Amino acid sequence: MLTKIMAPFDGWCSSLDDVPDAVFAGRMLGDGLALDPTSGLLAAPCDGEVVTLPTTAHAVSLRTASGLEILVHIGIDTVELKGRGFKALVTVGDRVRAGDALIRFDLDVAARGAKSLMTPVVVQTDGARIENRRPTGPVSAGELLFAVHLTELGASERTAAAPMAVTQRTLKMPLKQGLHARPAALIAQRAKSVGAEVSLRAHGKSANARSVVALMALGVRHGDEFTIHAGGPEAGAAIEALTAGIDEALRMEAAHPTPSSPPPRSAASASEVPRSGELIGVTAVAGFAVGRATRIERRAIEVAERGGSVEQERAEFERAQNEVRTRLKRMANAGGATRREIIKAHLEFLDDPTLNATAQESIAAGHSAGFGWRESVRASIRALELLDDTRLRERADDLLDIESHVLMALVGEAKPMILPLPERAVLIAADLLPSELTALDRQRLVGICLSGGGATSHVAILAAAMEIPMLVGLGSGLREIAEGTMVIIDADQGRLQTTPSEPAVATARATVEARLLRSAEQRLAAQADCHAQDGTRVEVYANLGNVAEASLAVENGAEGCGLLRTEFLFIDRDTAPSEEEQFQTYQDIAAALSGRPLILRLMDVGGDKPLKYLPLPHEDNPALGLRGVRTVLSRPDLLRTQLRAALRVAPPGRVRLLLPMVTDASEITAIRGMCDELRAELKRGANMEIGAMVETPAAALTAARLLRDADFLSIGSNDLTQYTLAMDRGHPELASRTDALHPAVLKLIAAAASAGVAAGKMVAVCGGMAADRAAVPVLLGLGVRELSVVPGAIPATKRRVRSLRILECREMALRCLELGSAAEVRLLIDQYLASVGDSP
Ligand code: PEP
Ligand code: MG
Repeated sequence: MLTKIMAPFDGWCSSLDDVPDAVFAGRMLGDGLALDPTSGLLAAPCDGEVVTLPTTAHAVSLRTASGLEILVHIGIDTVELKGRGFKALVTVGDRVRAGDALIRFDLDVAARGAKSLMTPVVVQTDGARIENRRPTGPVSAGELLFAVHLTELGASERTAAAPMAVTQRTLKMPLKQGLHARPAALIAQRAKSVGAEVSLRAHGKSANARSVVALMALGVRHGDEFTIHAGGPEAGAAIEALTAGIDEALRMEAAHPTPSSPPPRSAASASEVPRSGELIGVTAVAGFAVGRATRIERRAIEVAERGGSVEQERAEFERAQNEVRTRLKRMANAGGATRREIIKAHLEFLDDPTLNATAQESIAAGHSAGFGWRESVRASIRALELLDDTRLRERADDLLDIESHVLMALVGEAKPMILPLPERAVLIAADLLPSELTALDRQRLVGICLSGGGATSHVAILAAAMEIPMLVGLGSGLREIAEGTMVIIDADQGRLQTTPSEPAVATARATVEARLLRSAEQRLAAQADCHAQDGTRVEVYANLGNVAEASLAVENGAEGCGLLRTEFLFIDRDTAPSEEEQFQTYQDIAAALSGRPLILRLMDVGGDKPLKYLPLPHEDNPALGLRGVRTVLSRPDLLRTQLRAALRVAPPGRVRLLLPMVTDASEITAIRGMCDELRAELKRGANMEIGAMVETPAAALTAARLLRDADFLSIGSNDLTQYTLAMDRGHPELASRTDALHPAVLKLIAAAASAGVAAGKMVAVCGGMAADRAAVPVLLGLGVRELSVVPGAIPATKRRVRSLRILECREMALRCLELGSAAEVRLLIDQYLASVGDSP
């Protein structure tokens, strides 16, 4: 199959090597040619459908009927013109013929504002071959630039109806946030653990699946189709591993909705005109503060273009990277969970194969290590800036941060140079990098105001974790504020008062004091035991995934850990964790909980959570296959190690065991038998309580029988919902219907809860519904007295329980059981909550 690509305008045709941008010159976005335009009208280079056209209209891509995607990118760095001088004449989804006008642009504006007007016209060449490439020289619009020959495989891969080859899988992106930094890192880690060449393809682009920057630059959003391709002996396993990585990201997204990012807020008063002495911005971290404007300026790091010998520069580069790696790891261990996660992302960038390959190429061409690294990082930033996705564009800050870490290590400096802060400083800057923020004295910093920046950037996430009010996008007016001026940040309203009067400052100070008092009261209230209005005791526990979360949970008022997902210790590694490593981790978590109970769930692996060191046969339907307790029973060696580690935690009896995916009582007795054996072996007298998760309808319906062998039950409503409704919990199109408040799920919960009441044993809920405002009254009404939720949701859950009357909840829950859908249930609960004055 041959597709002819025509010149989209008159101009000068040359090789992509001449494009002053490593992304295009390095063929990272595909192969083709470049054109220097002499006219300002971009025409379609072939027939096709418009698949991407950013709002800035500086680039467009088309997809042909055979599935080939062609990207035309007008000039280099033209994204920075923010659409000035560009006008789209078509929209995404339009079908166009070769020669149809797509974009009109002002040559003068583009020439003055952009780095270059060289316009790459590129196609993805996997499964395709470029022929009849036009030689360097003049070209007129509509003349042939090159032809693309799609091979049989390429053509079948690109058409949706084609049968799926064994080495590829096409999926729809289930993640609400799309393929942003965290899932990209999860996928890259999984890709690194398999011995296959593996790539992800979407929007006509292809990315090395081991490269976080390349994966992000694909710009895959929720619902977009993408394909995992793998080649080599472990191709099948690679596809499974990557699919599992996406599932894991999905579970993390479900368990921690917008896990570490502040809720994105719109410009609080974008439509309002600022009052005099005031600037309006976007709330990145809500809050209120008053303090002295304090500027920090970033010091530019000089980098020589030419270096020493290639060997010297390579050695220097390696030294600097090792130094940065060691320092970042040290910082990660010293910081909290948020900081650790951000540093983890930076470490991924440091070792990113695409970033490193481009830097090494530049060094090989005679450039210094610093120049090569900076060029490579900047090229990736430009690729991200092409995307119409704020979240991904904001990752540019992280790349800049890791760029400066390496550059500083190259010049022999260990830390960013930042001025010490005065008391009650409000930081004023154009932008701020995560490492710059962590280098500041938190005790003196009361607020952050940036003229640029993004509300979902990592620095905003860090500021949220540090509880520092932050406004971004305040614009150039910020420059006018003199150093040391008193300013008031009302980050709830998106406003910065730049010249407040003395009385206004005094009032603001009083507001800050009052708020501090209120939040201390709320935290204190969360520390106290929780009772419903009528005095019924309800225990609120935390779902944990690692040690850092345990401390946070205690600060937030957790009465213990209701679910420790121990899988985190087992995945993303080549060998199973040793007994010692597991024991240390469990003991650390128990210590962080300071005497509170710890419910440790046996590793919930297998099926959709494969382990590299756990070869299991291929399953057509992993959700219904070997997973949870079924997997551990099939691998007694892994089970024994985990049980021994759990039994050794001191003091004996503090840890309770929870079995995932139980379907019948024999699974409980089998584990109990092994526990008893190991207790004897370890000379542990104390009994370890064993509970079963209710995640299958079978477990719910036989709860009374299970409770003869189990000491307690914990309802995993995420899986229970999926198995009851026969709806994949990660299915993007069923997401709104996979609702645990469906009456069928509620009936199963009612069955399990009643069995618990009858047996006098505890039945908890640890699935996501426990933190759902609407679910809490129904669960209490059905007899549940223990909820386990993510640490951040504990104070709100306690507050909610305290406003409820159990008798009313019971009456409403019974009515819910008779309704026809989750939507009807939600409506009824909303009416009830409104009647008791509980607002969202
Ligand atoms: C559940 O299924 O509700 C549960 C808590 O387990 P996980 O989300 O880890 O599968
Ligand atoms: Mg589950």
